[in-house]
Amino acid sequence: MAGESGVLLVIDVQNDFCPSGALAVPRGDEVVPIVNRLASRFPNVVLTQDWHPPDHLSFASAHPGRKPYEIVTAPYGPQVLWPDHCVQETPGADFHKSLRIPHAGLVLRKGIHRTIDSYSAFYENDRKTPTGLVGYLRERNLTEIFLAGLAFDFCVRYSCEDARREGFEAIVIEDACRGIDVGGSMARTSEILTEIGVASLSAEDVV
Ligand SMILES: [Zn+2]
Repeated sequence: MAGESGVLLVIDVQNDFCPSGALAVPRGDEVVPIVNRLASRFPNVVLTQDWHPPDHLSFASAHPGRKPYEIVTAPYGPQVLWPDHCVQETPGADFHKSLRIPHAGLVLRKGIHRTIDSYSAFYENDRKTPTGLVGYLRERNLTEIFLAGLAFDFCVRYSCEDARREGFEAIVIEDACRGIDVGGSMARTSEILTEIGVASLSAEDVV
């Protein structure tokens, strides 16, 4: 299925996003064997890793009096506040221990700047500051992006949007994703992905 121009983009399969993690995505760990199997079919794989400094602006703990899942106004727009998660060099930021993708060519860390969050693998939350992934994919002639990982309604969604905005083909592998669902965000994500021309496949279709 994946031709030479295909790349599997695996979003944030990290301990803190799995059950018992700091920002657990329900059943997030279920994607691990699916993603492993998918990755074995792709010569080209990119992993992203949410990787925040300890006092990151997206943490509710950095905003006295505010609680996780409240929304604040950051200089670049609305920002959901999260429990502290994926702090650099902590076990929560490690990839899930059963994730086995030794041939991944790139591990891209995002959310590394204290004053801005990054849901998308391509741009930080101002939608302008690039992570460098567009350049990497263009230079390698990778034009068809297959997306999997966590969380469907945040980092996978925004990565799909930016992939389309940059003119890439984007295919989301829905059963290789799990979501958080804050205020109807799962349904909204499915609508948006359809609107912007993101195809949806199952892992079975790809493998
Ligand atoms: Zn984060």
